Amino acid sequence: MSQQQETRSQDAADGPDEFIVDTEDCAAREEAHRLRGTARPITVVGNPVLHRECRDVTDFGPELAALVDDMFASQRAAEGVGLAANQIGVDLKVFVYDCPDDEGARHVGVVCNPVLDELPAELRRLDDSNEGCLSVPGAYAELARPDYAVVRGQDLEGKPIAVRGTGYFARCLQHETDHLYGRLYIDRLSKRDRKDALRQMAEGTPRYETVPND
Ligand SMILES: [Zn+2]
Repeated sequence: MSQQQETRSQDAADGPDEFIVDTEDCAAREEAHRLRGTARPITVVGNPVLHRECRDVTDFGPELAALVDDMFASQRAAEGVGLAANQIGVDLKVFVYDCPDDEGARHVGVVCNPVLDELPAELRRLDDSNEGCLSVPGAYAELARPDYAVVRGQDLEGKPIAVRGTGYFARCLQHETDHLYGRLYIDRLSKRDRKDALRQMAEGTPRYETVPND
């Protein structure tokens, strides 16, 4: 996901302690991945790899670790707050994030094979903040999404994990999970807003390297 254009403050949601802690040693963890990796160009809307469900991660070995390092390097080079593997052309269900929540806490992590929890009605509050995507460079649109999200999946070693997010970080978790099922945020917009986002993209020049579409 690309960086936020406006901020909104929201109440923190309380929850059980079973969620991973992704707010500690963020700078060091992000830097370690990024320095081992190499930034790769970003795929953009129209590239088939972005429009179909990715394959499950089944091999949690050194190749996956190297991919995740490249994803952190690519995310930083493009100044993103979240990146899915198919955004650097890799057909695998894994995303990384380096994203603030609405309380200002920075979250850094990796999720393989993510699945979003269905939210109970009492936790479902919609937030219609702006959203953008590195794969739709230069475009932003308001999109209503729940302001709370729980993603379950696996870490780099294949261990089951759950990640909880509020506010902007909740948006990021939903946005990145969507990517791995072949869905871009513009696919959730009205026809008119989608067209407007594509026009914004066509009128601008990306600030980072992209993969040209055929
Ligand atoms: Zn995106």
